[in-house]
Amino acid sequence: MKIGFPRALFYYDYFPFWAGFFHALDIEVVTSSPTNRQIMEQGLKKASDETCLPLKLLAGHIQALEKVDAIFLPRMVSVDADSYNCPKFLGIPESLFPAVPAGIPVLTVTVNWKKGKSQVLKDLQVFGLELGKGKADIRKAFTLGQEWQKRYQDSSGTGWNFEESMREIGSATKGLMASQKDKSIPRIPVRVQNPDRLRIALVGHSYLTHEPYANLNLLGRLHEKAEVELVQHVKQEEADTHLLGLRKKLFWNHAKQIVGAGNKFVTDPKIDGIIYLSCFGCGTDSMIQELLARFARERHKPYMVITLDEHSGEAGLVTRLEAFLDMVERRKVHEGYVSAHGECLDRDSNTLRIPQC
Ligand code: SF4
Repeated sequence: MKIGFPRALFYYDYFPFWAGFFHALDIEVVTSSPTNRQIMEQGLKKASDETCLPLKLLAGHIQALEKVDAIFLPRMVSVDADSYNCPKFLGIPESLFPAVPAGIPVLTVTVNWKKGKSQVLKDLQVFGLELGKGKADIRKAFTLGQEWQKRYQDSSGTGWNFEESMREIGSATKGLMASQKDKSIPRIPVRVQNPDRLRIALVGHSYLTHEPYANLNLLGRLHEKAEVELVQHVKQEEADTHLLGLRKKLFWNHAKQIVGAGNKFVTDPKIDGIIYLSCFGCGTDSMIQELLARFARERHKPYMVITLDEHSGEAGLVTRLEAFLDMVERRKVHEGYVSAHGECLDRDSNTLRIPQC
């Protein structure tokens, strides 16, 4: 059996789990090709005008899956006991049925970690019946999926590119499969950072920051000019500690990750500036982007928002990026982060401090 897995949205966070799960069940998983113009245009035709860019891309990737026996579209309700995914995740697969090519069935399963691990396993076992697999097979597949997911999550602090990390996981997991007794799973190389370069944090949803076609290769462009930190590089426990000051708990999983990690970047003196990559039509971003902007303003941390949609142009992005990086560099190198006006205006920022501050 060959299952099609669209390379969009949940692919960027949970693909390792599903890859391990189906691998253990001896089911081949085929992903759609990386986003291109045709995929984007097909997505725009089939998705609702009102929805966000990542959902439109998902619609395009679904149509790009050919020669598969079924398309897999899980309903990822929650991935921990404390939060939900965005409502648009919950509307999958129904909201995307118009994008599914005629004659190809859709396989789906609800994953809701708020109901606990045993309920997730039970739901997967019911799904397993559709695939002709027994309960014991599903239990093994669930364990392997979790191992692969953990391996990816442990590695995301060391890689800066999702595809690169996935390749590393692929080679590592093959080693793991070949010899269960061999504990010496190859380590993923640690990112080598140059302390003399600018350090910029790129904040946003994984499926935007790691999507080079939609974000006009922002991550690659940024990486040429600065050391880049991503939300995914911050461990969940560390991000959680930076949420403690909030008056109200955040509800959505990605929002928690973005605000927690973003707040860590705001308070980290080694980070010279923050770029928030948002997309038009994102409900959660409209709130959390503003929240993070306030934290950045209070700490005098350079902060820029880039909002993507299907009409975003390269020239505009490059100009804004260069202007932002020039401003950050000038501030760091020439002004020492001490304002020419006002007393101790920048006392909470990094680099130099004047003694009376
Ligand atoms: S969090 Fe925003 S970008 Fe992501 S699916 Fe929901 S609305 Fe779309």
